[in-house]
Amino acid sequence: MNDTTGAFPTLSGPQIARIAAHGKRRQVQAGEVLFDQGEAGRAFFVVVSGAIELVRVQPGTPENVILVLEPGQFTGDVSLLSGRSAVVRGRAREAGEVLELDRKSLRELVQVDSDLSDVLMRAFILRRVRLISDNLGNVVLLGSNHSADTLRLKEFLTRNGHPYAYVDLEREAVEQELLNQFHVSVADVPVLICPGHPPMRNPPNAKVADCLGFNLPLDQEHLRDVVVVGAGPAGLSAAVYGASEGLDVLVLETEAPGGQAGSSSKIENYLGFPTGISGRDLAGRAYTQAQKFGAEVIIARSAARLACSRKPYVIEIDGGDRVPARAIVIASGVQYRRLSIDHPDRFDGVGVYYGATAVEAQLCSGDDVIVVGGGNSAGQAAVFLASSAKHVHLLCRSGSLDDRMSRYLVRRIEENPDITVHTHTEIEALEGDHRLQRVVWRHRQTGEAKGHDIGHVFLMMGATPNTGWLAGCLVVDEKGFIKTGSDLLPDELSAARWPLPRSPYLLETSLPGIFAVGDVRSGNVKRVASGVGEGSISIHLVHKVLAE
Ligand SMILES: Cc1cc2nc3c(=O)[nH]c(=O)nc-3n(C[C@H](O)[C@H](O)[C@H](O)COP(=O)(O)OP(=O)(O)OC[C@H]3O[C@@H](n4cnc5c(N)ncnc54)[C@H](O)[C@@H]3O)c2cc1C
Repeated sequence: MNDTTGAFPTLSGPQIARIAAHGKRRQVQAGEVLFDQGEAGRAFFVVVSGAIELVRVQPGTPENVILVLEPGQFTGDVSLLSGRSAVVRGRAREAGEVLELDRKSLRELVQVDSDLSDVLMRAFILRRVRLISDNLGNVVLLGSNHSADTLRLKEFLTRNGHPYAYVDLEREAVEQELLNQFHVSVADVPVLICPGHPPMRNPPNAKVADCLGFNLPLDQEHLRDVVVVGAGPAGLSAAVYGASEGLDVLVLETEAPGGQAGSSSKIENYLGFPTGISGRDLAGRAYTQAQKFGAEVIIARSAARLACSRKPYVIEIDGGDRVPARAIVIASGVQYRRLSIDHPDRFDGVGVYYGATAVEAQLCSGDDVIVVGGGNSAGQAAVFLASSAKHVHLLCRSGSLDDRMSRYLVRRIEENPDITVHTHTEIEALEGDHRLQRVVWRHRQTGEAKGHDIGHVFLMMGATPNTGWLAGCLVVDEKGFIKTGSDLLPDELSAARWPLPRSPYLLETSLPGIFAVGDVRSGNVKRVASGVGEGSISIHLVHKVLAE
């Protein structure tokens, strides 16, 4: 691997001296393994003399030395800060001297030394990008593009920034020997092969997170200053501001950092990114930033119930764990509505999708696609998919796109010959055997219904809040969004037994110390910027509540 991007810089003498103050010097012997592939919570090493080789080990293939680090260079990528397992082995190539820092000392270093923070964080991010683009992961996914669970696993790995190799068992001539080696057959797909574990047949996301070491063990006795539920833009913002201001922050996330924004191909109206930024990049950077300041982020674990009858509040997590919290920031966002037809989930992942990322775009490249919805997310998806699909049909129930979509998107759609807008139109039926093959749509004014041989539908039709886990603890509006601050009426507060002489703060719910931010909050304007703003404001208010 040649370093053409600056992912493997050489530190100067003074920089090495500053790192040395946070760690220990030690001698290494030729062939000594400093950290192994699959090892979680590994240390950070700087080569003082000698060399460290980074080796990729895959069952059934000879080991591959992908890079040799010379004096002044260092190990690690973003996974080092989160404690995730290593995707390569680090081994001393010859006898020499290294500087070794544990994860805590590395974190302290990047928090106090802004020059080194720039160099290390930039290199860590670039390395992860390189690992992903070169498919240099330690995981192999055997799957089929006709399987909804293959899509789920691909999305889970991609959105969590974990590099993996993908083998499509229906398209590629896979040697029987490979299948025999893992004791799996084509009928078992999807199968995930994770180092040090037996092959997993169709594993749930939580098992994948465990096997890849995404999460550190959860300490259930530890009373956190603030638990943030949801790692979309609003939750990540609360995590970054909370951790950077010295609070003890735990974040719970059902799927992957980024939330809905993580499924956006390009966000063009977020301040500071004049050429736009992909949701995945924004989420990846925010996640790394939260880790840098010491927030603990638990992936693939949902808040299942809020125990709110006494303080400290307790959040019960799916799988049975419980975490107590002095304050809670709810940033659990929304999810897209399903079609009002019989068995609306029948083709989920096999023709019906709720996000338009590169993973889905690849599945429908060269085919006709349908996008349903009249808001910005539908508009963005239509524009993004038009670059790879044969043609995009944008279906909206109202008479024009202007009501809910930003003007710049409406113009792009109008000027794109590969997109046709069908107003006053809705889907009446989805048809197919094992995957979607045909869609019937109907004009709402004329009543005319027609079938079309199209196998890909993207649903972006407005959203419902993720509040089912709150068990009725908080006052919500007529659509289920959480009410906060001055939106809470006096009779709602007395019915909720608001116990304090003061009124709820801005963003504070009907329970003291519990805040709601971002799309899940009643009255929020459903933009990345507003979620990020509310996340940061909530931390200012958490400080006030903790001081009460
Ligand atoms: C395709 C698309 C394109 C968009 N484009 C733009 C754009 O260009 N500009 C713009 O400003 N906005 C855009 N938006 C809207 C923007 O993404 C949202 O407003 C923003 O993501 C809301 O952030 P949030 O953190 O409040 O919620 P979300 O992004 O919905 O995140 C909520 C998170 O909480 C997690 N969660 C839910 N329940 C639980 C639970 N019980 N336990 C743990 N975790 C839970 C979810 O998995 C999710 O990750 C777009 C949205 C989409 C879908």
